[in-house]
Amino acid sequence: MQYLLKSTALAGLTAAALSFGAAGAAHAEDIGAHDGLNATYWIQNSVEYKANASALYQLAMLRLDQALADKSWTAALEQTGDYQSKPPAVILDIDETVLDNSPYQAWIVEKDKYYSSKTWAPFVESQTSRVIPGSVEFTKYAKSKGVKVIYVSNRKAPGEDATRANLKKFGYPVDEDTDVVLLRGEKDEWKSSNKTPRREHVAASYRILLQLGDNLGDFTDENVKGSPSERLGTFEKYQAMWGKQWIMFANPTYGSWEGAAINNNWKASGSEKRAMKHAIMDEWEGPK
Ligand SMILES: [Mg+2]
Repeated sequence: MQYLLKSTALAGLTAAALSFGAAGAAHAEDIGAHDGLNATYWIQNSVEYKANASALYQLAMLRLDQALADKSWTAALEQTGDYQSKPPAVILDIDETVLDNSPYQAWIVEKDKYYSSKTWAPFVESQTSRVIPGSVEFTKYAKSKGVKVIYVSNRKAPGEDATRANLKKFGYPVDEDTDVVLLRGEKDEWKSSNKTPRREHVAASYRILLQLGDNLGDFTDENVKGSPSERLGTFEKYQAMWGKQWIMFANPTYGSWEGAAINNNWKASGSEKRAMKHAIMDEWEGPK
């Protein structure tokens, strides 16, 4: 039996391991393998992840001050024309940038599933996303400096009320004077996961000081669905932006990086996906 591990079963396993040593440990071999286990565990439970995210938000506060002091500074490729005198804004992605959805990922691991919009939508409605460390402090800091905090997310438009409620629950600024939660499909021209039209919408009214995200598409749509080498080309093209105007958070649980690894063939089986990832990795020849 795979995936019977819940708290009571886990307690039993631990007790068995303690009582019977190797005999108890043998039960552990019955636990199913899921490709998402280590990444989900790391995001949800490691202090290494929490310290990493906190550090990036500390950096973002320093960059915000720099950006405010330099009227020529912009973080958006979409920012054109006379933007220097426009009011300042920051654009944040939501999932795995501001809100932590590791309980959803943990459910996927425990139930041996993959992401599906059919299960993601009820998770969004449950308003149980958590806080990425440092994100509440950063967004409040930006607001205190007169900077508009704008969220650009590929959550779908029907989830907007739940998303706003989830953000407000933790005290994130969610201004009401204008729409600051820009979700996929809110407008006809926002139907794509491609975020460029929404960045253009923000850039028309604001000087965009910073962009924060966990996915290449949170910054540019260039080669988001490209091959790993094409994506590397985009990374290198914008080398000067990373850590300055663009701040990328770690997300090893999902993302367009995985699509690139599997030719965006999400229908491939687990073993086919693993084979494609193995084929791309560089490996040491091993001891002579
Ligand atoms: Mg995200």
